[in-house]
Amino acid sequence: SDIPVMKLNDGYEIPQLGFGVFLVEEDEAQRVVMDALETGYRHIDTAKIYGNEEGVGRAIAESGIARKDLYITTKLWNDDQPKARQALEQSLERLGLDYVDLYLIHWPCARQDAYLDAWHEMEKCREEGLIRSIGVCNFLPKHLERLLGESETVPVVNQIELHPTYQQSSVTQYSRSHDIAIEAWGPLGQGKYDLFGEKPIKEAAEAHGKTPAQVVLRWHLQMKNIIFPKSVHVERMRENMEIFDFTLTSDEMSAITALERGNRVSSHPDEVE
Ligand code: NAD
Repeated sequence: SDIPVMKLNDGYEIPQLGFGVFLVEEDEAQRVVMDALETGYRHIDTAKIYGNEEGVGRAIAESGIARKDLYITTKLWNDDQPKARQALEQSLERLGLDYVDLYLIHWPCARQDAYLDAWHEMEKCREEGLIRSIGVCNFLPKHLERLLGESETVPVVNQIELHPTYQQSSVTQYSRSHDIAIEAWGPLGQGKYDLFGEKPIKEAAEAHGKTPAQVVLRWHLQMKNIIFPKSVHVERMRENMEIFDFTLTSDEMSAITALERGNRVSSHPDEVE
């Protein structure tokens, strides 16, 4: 396929474009993921809290695609931080897999003070082959600093809210300086504001004969972000994959990057317990 891979700091490769399943209902997940796999996606991003791991697992089994050709991510929910191994084993069972490619701490929940213990348990599970790579979500530099100071393993990724009006540059710079790749969640702003009406995005879309969504996703790729936009519609799944046949100019990139205005559309890591 056309989808490029990125090499992570532990040597494993991840497809830079995947498919996310936040807010896909369990009873729809099998159909939606099956459609995504048929469209050509091979990287699926789910989480225990999404409540759809079984549907994702049924689609994986039904697809008949070789396990080595898939890249599956799931996440450790906040309440489960003190029992990471058990939570992982239950996720694997729901997914019908004997390992995941990537397991992520979903939120730091610093007041709970359990993410370091969870991380050490995840390191053990990785040694045993239940996980290929381990990483985090929604970690601010202060959380990463503590993790890096007290463990042997550098997270392969930090998965954070990131779209043109909210780019968290202090988090991305700190992460990248430690060779932690950035996964951008909500790459399209979760549809919560009129991102597609922003002038530089509309103009680039016209110039390249692409849709505004394709321009935004292309901007992420050129920013070296890993993305997994979500859609339950096959036409949009296709649209979101047709982003490898054009390149934004450096002026177009700069104009989109200049849309930054601290426009967070979801929770702040210090607010999530
Ligand atoms: P997103 O930015 O991918 O937006 C999804 C919405 O955008 C869809 O519901 C649809 O309305 C719209 N959309 C998709 N394709 C479109 C197109 N081509 N044209 C027009 N509209 C389109 O938001 P998301 O789903 O929240 O983020 C992607 C993934 O990131 C999630 O599915 C999930 O896997 C992950 N995520 C992780 C966290 C975390 O805390 N780690 C939080 C939220 C999401």
